[in-house]
Amino acid sequence: MAKTFDVGIESLGSNGASQAAAHQAVGRQAAPGGLLPLPLRGVRDGQSAVTPAAPAGKSFFLETFGCQMNDHDSEKVAGVLQGRGYHSAESPAQADLVLYNTCSIREKAAQKVFARLGDWKTLADGKIIGVLGCLAQQEGEEIFERAPWVSLVCGSASYRKLPELIAQLESGGRRVTGLDLDTDETFETEITRRDNLLRAYITIIEGCDYACSYCVVPHTRGPERSRSSEAVLAEARRLADAGYSEIQLLGQTVNSYRDPSPRGWKFVELLRAVAAVAGIRRVRFTTSHPNDFHREIVEAIDEVPELCDHVHLPVQSGSTRVLREMLRTYTREEYLQKIEWIRAARRPISITSDIIVGFPGETEADFAETLSLLDTAKYDAIFSFKYSPRPNTSAMHLPDAIPEEEKSRRLAILNERQRAIQLAANEKLVGQSYEVLVDGCHPARTQWGGRTSCNRLINFTSPHVNLLGEYVQVKVTRAGPNSFAGEHVT
Ligand code: SAM
Ligand code: SF4
Repeated sequence: MAKTFDVGIESLGSNGASQAAAHQAVGRQAAPGGLLPLPLRGVRDGQSAVTPAAPAGKSFFLETFGCQMNDHDSEKVAGVLQGRGYHSAESPAQADLVLYNTCSIREKAAQKVFARLGDWKTLADGKIIGVLGCLAQQEGEEIFERAPWVSLVCGSASYRKLPELIAQLESGGRRVTGLDLDTDETFETEITRRDNLLRAYITIIEGCDYACSYCVVPHTRGPERSRSSEAVLAEARRLADAGYSEIQLLGQTVNSYRDPSPRGWKFVELLRAVAAVAGIRRVRFTTSHPNDFHREIVEAIDEVPELCDHVHLPVQSGSTRVLREMLRTYTREEYLQKIEWIRAARRPISITSDIIVGFPGETEADFAETLSLLDTAKYDAIFSFKYSPRPNTSAMHLPDAIPEEEKSRRLAILNERQRAIQLAANEKLVGQSYEVLVDGCHPARTQWGGRTSCNRLINFTSPHVNLLGEYVQVKVTRAGPNSFAGEHVT
C-alpha cells in the first residue's frame, strides 16, 4: 500500500536539502534537531493514557519497513510489548529485543531486511532478534537457516499470537514461529502506541482476497477479514477522546470492507459513521481497489465535510491487455469511468495512483497506453514502480520478462510525464487558500508545514510561535510539482 502522496519537500527556494531538513514531521520518522519535543501517546482500551513509564525491565527496538499498514502494525506490536513491561530503547545496540517489521512487496525491500539481519551476525549474543511481517511470512523458517541468530519469525496474520511467542522466548525458548495464514482473526491490542500525534491509523480490514498476479500480499497477509463496525467506532471515539482530530482508515483493499457483525455495513456506511464521531475533523482512507470503488463513496465525500477530498485509486497499468494479465478485474475504460465520477464531484477531490512499469510482456504500445492514461486521469501524484518478480505469485511464471534497463527507461519517461502534469496543475492553484493541519516546523525560520484535506503538502511562513497541531488557513504563493509554498492568512 502506498504512502501519502507527496515525496517530500522539494526545492522551492535556494536549497532543496535544507528545505527538507526544515520540515520536520511530527512523529517517529522525524530527524533530530528542529523538531519540537512532543511525547508519544499510547491509547488504551477504554481510556486514553500516556505510554507507560519504562520499568526497570527489558527494552525493545522495532524498525519498520514498507507501507502504512506496517507502520500501524508496529504501533500495535509496540503496545503489546509495552503492556508486557518492555520499554522502548533509543538504538538496537541498547535493546534486549530487536524486531524488524518487514516488507517483501519488491525484491529490494526484502534485501534491505537481510542486510539488517546480517549486521547481527557477530553481535546478537544475548539479544532476541525477531523478524515480523511480510518477509517473515514469505521466508518462514528459512530465515533461521540464513540468519541462525534470529529467534522469532512471525507473519502479520499471526500477530494475535505475539504475546504468547514472546512469553516462550522469555522463558528460555530458542526459536519460535507464528506462520499460520488460516485465520479469521484480526490483530486487536489492548494498548496501541501512537507514533504520530496528529494522525491516528485504524485498521478496518486485514489481508486480501484478490489475486493480482504480481502481488505477494494475499500470501503474506492472508485472507481478507474485516473488523466489526462497533470495534472500529469504539476505537475512533477513544482516539477523539485522546485528542486526535484526523483518522486514517487502513486496509490493503479498504473499500472491500464488509462489517462481520449483524449490522452488515458496507464501507461507505462505516466511513460516514466514523466521520460523525464527535471531535473528528478529518477522515482519510487507503488503499481503495477500483473494483470496489462505487459512486456512493464520491457522494459521501461530497456530502460530509469531515471526509477528506482525496482518493488513492491504484490503476497499475493503462493497458487493458496488461490489466488482464495482472488479474486486476477491471478494464481501462471501467477504471476511467470511476475517475470521471470523482472529477465530477461538487468539491475538487485529488486523485493519486500506483503504477507498475515493465510487467512481463508489456509492449511499447501497452506502455504508451499507460502514458496516455496519465494525460486523461491527470493524477495529483503517483507512486511508480518497476515490476519486481516475487515468489509465490503467478506472474513469476509469465514469459517475456522486460530487461531491467528497459524498465528503468520506462519508469523515467513515466515520471517525467507525470511531473509535467503535476507542475501544470499545481501552478493553477497559486493564490488559492487551504485549511492546513500543521504537522511540522522549523522554529528558527518561523517556517511551518502541513497537509490540506486533499493531502497537498504546504510549507508556509507565519509570525505565530506555536502552530503545531492547529488548523490554519494558508494562501499558496508558489507551486512545485510535489509541494507548495504559502503564507499564513490571519
Ligand atoms: N492493495 C493495493 C491495490 O490493490 O492497489 C496495493 C497494495 S501494494 C502493497 C502497493 C503497491 O505496490 C501496488 O499498488 C503496486 O503498484 C506495487 N506492487 C505490488 N507488487 C509489486 C511488484 N511485484 N512489483 C512492483 N510493484 C509492486
Ligand atoms: Fe495485492 Fe492486488 Fe490485493 Fe492489492 S488487491 S493487495 S495489489 S493482491
